[in-house]
This record gives sequence, C-alpha cells and structure tokens, in this order.
Amino acid sequence: MAIIHILDHQTIDKIAAGEVVERPSSVVKELVENAIDAGAGAVTVEIKDGGISFIRVTDNGNGIERGQVRNAFLRHATSKISSAEDLTELVSLGFRGEALASIAAVSMVELISKTREDLTGIRYVIEGGDEKEQEEIGAPDGTTVLVRNLFYNTPPRKKFLKQPQTEGSYVADLMEHLAMSNPQISFKFVSGGQTKFYTTGDGDLAQIIYRIYGREIANGLMPFHHQAEGVAIDGLLGRPVINRANRNYEIFYINGRYVKSSLISRAVEEGYREYLMQHKFPFCVLHFRINTDRIDVNVHPAKMEVRIADGPAFYELVKAAIHDALHGTEMIPEVVLTPRAADSAALRSMPAPEPFESRRIAKEAAERTVLSAASDTPGQEDYASLLEAGPTEQRTAREPVSYGRPLLAKAAQTELFADKILSPPARAKFEIIGQLFDTYWLVSYEEKLLIIDQHAAHEKVQYERFLKRFHAHAVVSQAVNPPLIVTLSGRERECYLTHAADFEALGFVVEEFGGNDYAIRGVPLDLYGYGEQEFFREILEELSENAVTGTPETVRTRIAAMACKAAVKGNMRLSLPEAERLIDELLTLDNPYNCPHGRPTIVSMTKYELEKKFKRIVT
Ligand code: ADP
Ligand code: MG
Repeated sequence: MAIIHILDHQTIDKIAAGEVVERPSSVVKELVENAIDAGAGAVTVEIKDGGISFIRVTDNGNGIERGQVRNAFLRHATSKISSAEDLTELVSLGFRGEALASIAAVSMVELISKTREDLTGIRYVIEGGDEKEQEEIGAPDGTTVLVRNLFYNTPPRKKFLKQPQTEGSYVADLMEHLAMSNPQISFKFVSGGQTKFYTTGDGDLAQIIYRIYGREIANGLMPFHHQAEGVAIDGLLGRPVINRANRNYEIFYINGRYVKSSLISRAVEEGYREYLMQHKFPFCVLHFRINTDRIDVNVHPAKMEVRIADGPAFYELVKAAIHDALHGTEMIPEVVLTPRAADSAALRSMPAPEPFESRRIAKEAAERTVLSAASDTPGQEDYASLLEAGPTEQRTAREPVSYGRPLLAKAAQTELFADKILSPPARAKFEIIGQLFDTYWLVSYEEKLLIIDQHAAHEKVQYERFLKRFHAHAVVSQAVNPPLIVTLSGRERECYLTHAADFEALGFVVEEFGGNDYAIRGVPLDLYGYGEQEFFREILEELSENAVTGTPETVRTRIAAMACKAAVKGNMRLSLPEAERLIDELLTLDNPYNCPHGRPTIVSMTKYELEKKFKRIVT
C-alpha cells in the first residue's frame, strides 16, 4: 500500500518555487520589481554566467527594516497587499509575497539592506531555504540581493537551463524592457564584467531607445499619445521605414508592467496595415494606463499576461488610434546616412541630458491619479460608436492587390519548360519591348509575350551565384572601411553569437565594438553595396523568429538565402543593358523559372490568348 507523506516545508518550497523561478531572468525580474516597488531611483544589475552562478541587484530604495528581513523570506509574506480586495487596486508590481521565498529555496541568497531611518544595516544569508547568518553591518541606504548558484539543490531543474550565453540574453532582453518601462529610473546592466547599457533616469524614453537599439531606430520614431475614457496610451511609434521582420519589437506595458498581448499586437498591426508589407511588423513602445478595475494581472505568476475587460472595444480603440496617428504623419522615408564608426563614437560621448525631469514626472503622476479616479463606467458611448464600425476584423494575409494576376495565372508556366524558351539558343529571338510598372520586363518571343519579374529574376541570379561560390568555398569577403556599426539587442546578440561561425563562412567579418555595438568590417563580395547593415540585421531577425536547425550545411544555405533575399531589395532600377545582362544570366541557370522562394520569375501569354481577349478569335 502506498504511504501518504506530508511533505516538509523545504520540499514544498522547492516545488512552489518552480512557479516563480524558472531561470535567471525570472529571478532578475522579481528582484528588480521589488526594487521598483521600493521606490528606487537607481538599480544596478550584474550577472555572471548568464545569471546561473551569480546575480546581484542593488537599489537605493526604502530598504527592509531589520526586524522584517526574516519575514520577507517567508512564503506569502508581503508588505504590498493585505487582502484580496487590494488586488483590484494593485499599483505595485509584486504582490504574491512569493519571490524571495522561492528564490531562497533554490539558491544561495545574501541580502544586505538598510532603511534611511536606521544607522546600520543588516546582512542576512539563507541557502536552500535554511537561514545561515544574520548580522548587523554598515551599509548604504537601500537593498542589495545576491543570488548564487541557482538550482544548486534541484539538479533536474538546473538541467533545463540553456547555455549561459542564452540565459544571459534573456536577462538582457528583460533589462531592456524594464529600462523602457521605467524611464524615470536609472538602470545599469553588467554582464560578465561588461557594462551592456545604462540609462540616466531622466524620463526620456527616446534616449533609452537610442542607448539600447542604436541611432537608426531612435531616428525613426514619432511620439504617440492617445487619451480616451479609462485608457491613456503614450509612447513611440516607429515609422514604417524601420519595420521589423518579427514581433519582438512590439513592446507593450500596462500600468508599468511589461506584457505580451496578442490582442494589442493585432490591434497595432491593423493600425499599421496600410503602411507595412506582408510579414513585416512595426517597432513601437507603448505604455497603456488602464483603470485597474478593467484589467486582471493575476492570470499567471510570471505576470506577463493580462486580461483586459471588453476586449473587442479595446481592440478597436487601439487600432483606430494608431491608424489615425500614422495617417496624420508624412511618411516619405528620409534618407538617413549609415552611421559609421566615427560618428557613432561621437554620439556616444554626447553629454548626458539633465539628470532629473521633475516637472514631467509630477505631471504624469497627476494624470495617473486623475485616470484611476475616472468614473467606473468605461466610456460606454465611445465604445458603442466604435463597435458600430462592425465586428472585430480577423487579421488576414496581406496579399498585394494585383489585377493582372487572374489573367496571367492562366498563362501556363509549364509551357515554358516544354518549349525551353528560357534557354540560351532561344535567347537570340528575344526582343525586349520595355519595362512596365518599374518591375516587369516585357519580352516578345515568337508568338508569345513573356513577362519577366525583374525582382524575382534578380533574386534568383544573385542567389545561385552566391551559392555556387559558397559551395566552392570561394566566398570572397569585401572589406568595409570604415566599419559599419550595428547595435544589437539582447536577442539579436544571442542569435549572432550562435551563428557567428556561419556568418564568417559567408564572408562576414564582425567584431565586438563595446557595449551592444558590433563592427561589420567585411561583407560577402556579392552582397557588397546592397545595404549590408540592413540585411545583417534582417537575417538576425529572421533567425531569432524562426530558429534554423539541421546540418551546418542546411543552416548556412538558409542564411545565404536570407542574405540574398535581403540584398536584392531596393536596388532595382535597371537600365536596358542591365536587364539584358540579367536575362542572359537567368537563362544559364538550371531552374530559371522560380525565384528561391518559389515564386515564378517569368510568365507568358500567347498571341492566341490575346486575340481571344480582343474577340478576334471566337471559340
Ligand atoms: P512581494 O514583492 O510579492 O511582496 P517578495 O517575496 O518579492 O514579495 O518580497 C517580500 C517583501 O520583502 C516585500 O513585500 C517587501 O516588503 C520586501 N522587499 C523585497 N525586496 C525589497 C527591496 N529591494 N527593497 C525593499 N523591500 C523589499
Ligand atoms: Mg516581489
């Protein structure tokens, strides 16, 4: 017969800890949120080995009173709520009173804290949930928490951790989000002894974005503000020129909390719809302030998801607000010079802006108060009128409108194979008529009209040429001088480091350039001059969105394909002789009929079909 045991408190704590503490980034999240809740104006986070062996979070907040320290490490001990009712009016980030207990259950923790009122501080050591030491010491105001050897006593959990580099990139990602959600707090993030970024805490979100994502993005932002009953939205919208290949740059906060919300994502993307190409996503950082009675953050311990009451109305509101903001803005992309090493360094040494913008913070605080005091009927009329616009639209694939399609779809591609039109001998009979819509080359060939998609053709030619060299190990790297400086976010960095060898094999020469910056000193010769920086970043984004797996060979082939795809863009003004050369080269390929992504490079229409259209032939 099975014996039923009552588990001891340490076992219970270890099990429960799994809910809150999954990896180093979850520890950092809880500790930094505690610092923010303690009213800190400056927070420093340092990690080693991606946070697995060492995490230190230091703040200059309220501190914990000597007599309270032991309680802070008890499960369900919190100073932030006292009853379930308080949950509806939650303003602090933490509230479960679980974090410190959970962290201490699965690691070695040392806490040093001092309140402003006390003359001396306290040092408290707790390992695997067991109190080890407690002593009075001299300390600055505020709190430092050191977490060592995460999961040292729960080996199965430790096994689930990824490589230190990957764990570190999660922490970096988190720190970036925390910095952007709290522009009025100065953050410093150090990983492996290197300062990754710091922010001044002057309240300027754009400045933080510049420090994290670099100048290219910071230049392409426009301020956004929208106020409706019960909802205020503030932040920055990326102009469509700085669009991204994945959703990682749609960054949302609700009442100061970083959240993932597919509802908000869809609404924002719909708002951007006319301005973005298929499979492109906006860059935006948006802070939502919503009456606390309309949201539920108590969905998951990680607290990244929220439930928003009256979802459809909220969706419409966000979509319309974004759409209107974009509509009222001049969208003609400006030519921005590629930042080179020299001016990137110059920008970096710009004097820091004034440290504290008290007026604005006071104003924001006042607005927040007004907002949460607003009536609890959430703008009934507003939503009703918005809803009249029709039910929530589903996101549909954004096929470009193409009137020529249905007609040309019939122009059988198979014929092309049978007739071998695309062969060097047939080439002599080609007569290039001209270019249509800046995209299609019209070619007459015997009894047919050939329509060649210049873009697809170019991509195909480029791709084959590049792959041939690549497989022959004859990739040539072209030096870029001065080097191009790119600023990589945590996720991009992780992706680059994982595939660094592949990039090198393709002809990229990339070096660390301090902080989040990397210097591109060489690029594949075939891709030189096509906006190297752009495609380097696009490849990273694609990689981080869809992890590429397989043999090293398939991985590299995929990366090469991405490089080509990114490279052919934009550079598409062809003269007649260039078009001739392009067509010539296309015809030398084994499969000239499809671009690397399967789209046709060429369609044909017979004289017979044309005559039928004009009713010269009636069948
Ligand atoms: P919660 O944040 O949900 O209250 P925690 O376990 O994270 O639970 O923290 C327990 C308590 O310890 C907090 O309620 C707070 O009173 C205190 N505390 C934790 N970290 C700090 C800090 N950095 N500064 C001041 N007090 C802190
Ligand atoms: Mg907490």
